[in-house]
Amino acid sequence: MPVNIKDLTMDELTEYFLGAGEPKFRAKQCFSWLHKGVTSFDEMTNLSKKLKEKLSESFFISVPEIARKQVSSDGTIKYLYKNFDGTFTESVIMQYHHGVSACISTQVGCNMGCKFCASTIGGKERDLTAGEILDQIIFSEKDTGMRISNIVLMGMGEPLDNYDNVIKFLKNVNHPDGLNIGYRHISLSTCGLVDKINRLAEENFPITLSISLHATNDKTRSEIMPVNKKYNIEQLIGCVKNYIKKTGRRVSFEYTLISGVNDKEENARELASLLKGMLCHVNLIPVNSVAESGFSKPENPNRFKELLIKLGVNATVRRELGSDIDAACGQLRRKNTQKN
Ligand code: SAH
Repeated sequence: MPVNIKDLTMDELTEYFLGAGEPKFRAKQCFSWLHKGVTSFDEMTNLSKKLKEKLSESFFISVPEIARKQVSSDGTIKYLYKNFDGTFTESVIMQYHHGVSACISTQVGCNMGCKFCASTIGGKERDLTAGEILDQIIFSEKDTGMRISNIVLMGMGEPLDNYDNVIKFLKNVNHPDGLNIGYRHISLSTCGLVDKINRLAEENFPITLSISLHATNDKTRSEIMPVNKKYNIEQLIGCVKNYIKKTGRRVSFEYTLISGVNDKEENARELASLLKGMLCHVNLIPVNSVAESGFSKPENPNRFKELLIKLGVNATVRRELGSDIDAACGQLRRKNTQKN
């Protein structure tokens, strides 16, 4: 079966071209076309006809179809991309003063089972490949005509449960001959797969690591995030401390505020004591309701924030974008959209 050429890293592509008796710079030319969103080898006008034929024998170029596009009153755009095999990927484009951010998916569905999250209902269908993760950037840029400056791996899926593809994607999207998006403009969010965070620390990419903490004690965390039964809070915090030591990067913690579950004063105190002395920032996200969860957001999320700040923790409440098109945090859900 032909391979999606966008699944190859620049090194792999170069190896292929050299093996085919072509000079190295041809790989660069091809890579650069792919990142501009070409849909066929024919569009690569600086490659010979013979070479293009050869390429099309071994590879195909993935072209996800925009199955649905919704535009929010705040300018946020949600795309539902249909992949070559009929699965769906959701991506959200958000416009800020400082640039355009893309919130992209790494898996179709998710196996992590967080109780408040819509993406995990029904489990994981499959991992997205490196090329399919990249396509969300390429084709969103092509469709909107906007240059994406920031990427958050916070759409559907657990990025570190699709480790190798995500690493390939990071290398490719950062490559100067491609989209050239700086690692410092990329955030990767994880529910806390400790073994993979340790591996990521070794890669030493200057990306921002976001940890979905969401609870301050193991009892509550295990109730709302099954992953906590595998890696508890102590193990997670220990590994994040090592990550900071190794990379020198500030880490961010996501904390979804759920009324009556994790928003009490004692939770703020527990959180402050867990994070004491750490180079970090806390992003508070008032939980977005998902029909199945039964959770609701606190009336005044600022109270929790102010308490944290008083306790010496750097915290902000995340602005909610795209809620009118179900594009807000945790609301991406393939099944739902598929029915419409
Ligand atoms: N699997 C990764 C990325 C997924 S989502 C992770 O767990 O970090 C990005 C963030 O949105 C995570 O912090 C996730 O816990 C949060 N989230 C999921 N559902 C939510 C909801 N209904 N309301 C608010 N935040 C939610």
